[in-house]
Amino acid sequence: MTDPTCIFCKIGTGEVPADKVYEDDLCVAFRDMEPLMPTHVLVIPKDHYRDVTDDVPPETLGHCLAVVRDITKREGLTGGFRLMVNTGDDASQSVRHFHIHILGGGRMPRPNDQDWGEFATNAHKLSPR
Ligand code: AMP
Repeated sequence: MTDPTCIFCKIGTGEVPADKVYEDDLCVAFRDMEPLMPTHVLVIPKDHYRDVTDDVPPETLGHCLAVVRDITKREGLTGGFRLMVNTGDDASQSVRHFHIHILGGGRMPRPNDQDWGEFATNAHKLSPR
């Protein structure tokens, strides 16, 4: 079931264009329009779920993760990558449609590392690949 007011549902149906890197019956993956890293891809189910706690069926969760894994290979993220699932207000989730961020293409400090502040300020300036 899709939500006609949701921007990610509209990307899923094709009503809103996106730089898609993968699509099948259940999910779609596309490049984030404000990349934080050289590789920044979002994987979403086509059906609408507010966030990961919104009774996403286990098969859908599993499928999205399998797609994540395949995309990291295709994008050549051999040095590693980070997955991020912002959920709710405390995590500043800005689009209320469950999505998995794939971030990679360079070293990312951990949030408690000394260089975290500099990274958070400058990450968006890295050139996409
Ligand atoms: P979050 O804060 O986890 O909800 O992340 C939402 C992400 O969606 C942000 O990184 C946005 O840059 C990205 N985003 C929002 N609208 C679009 C869009 N139309 N196409 C691509 N990325 C988008």
